Amino acid sequence: MEEKNAKIKAELAAHNKTLKKKLKIEEQESKAIKIPEKGYIDASDLPPMPSFVQPRPESSINLNAPKCIICRGTVYFYEKQDPPTCLYCEKIVLDNATEVC
Ligand SMILES: [Zn+2]
Repeated sequence: MEEKNAKIKAELAAHNKTLKKKLKIEEQESKAIKIPEKGYIDASDLPPMPSFVQPRPESSINLNAPKCIICRGTVYFYEKQDPPTCLYCEKIVLDNATEVC
């Protein structure tokens, strides 16, 4: 009895294997683009591409970045840090400065 069971199991496994292969081939064939009557494939025959999303660089999402003491805007590393002042406000301060060093 056990011998028979093992034989059936093996047959089933082989059958499943061929079935899987067949399904895979069918899937690939259905995915393949059929060449239209005009004789070539162009963009209008292809499915639309997923929309492009610009990845945000990690460094630009710095929540701990200092805020400008004047306009509360984010102050970047290349701007005045002590006190934190954005380039825009720094310019106003400098323009209004009457002292000449
Ligand atoms: Zn500012």
